[in-house]
Amino acid sequence: MRPGAEAAPRPVPRALCAACGRPVAQLRSPNCVYCGAAIPEALRGGATAVAKPGLPPEMLQMLEPRPRDASTSTQRWMLRILAAAVAGLILMVILRMMQPHG
Ligand SMILES: [Zn+2]
Repeated sequence: MRPGAEAAPRPVPRALCAACGRPVAQLRSPNCVYCGAAIPEALRGGATAVAKPGLPPEMLQMLEPRPRDASTSTQRWMLRILAAAVAGLILMVILRMMQPHG
């Protein structure tokens, strides 16, 4: 699995401005960033509801893996990258030694 092989999903514009028809990027602001038209709360409320799940932080801590796991996985990735780099260097050296005119 290569890092960055799968592209990050693009954020789909959920709301369109009724006045200019452009996607509403700044859902926090009450007005459209392009034309300044007022955006109905129905469009803005959906985004805020998605951003904040109604779970208490204790439940989130139980659901989420431990923070240490994330750091160890990062260290594992660093070790993998380091090992790959060392292996590549060794491979280059061996290939150069195998060539008659090195
Ligand atoms: Zn607009």
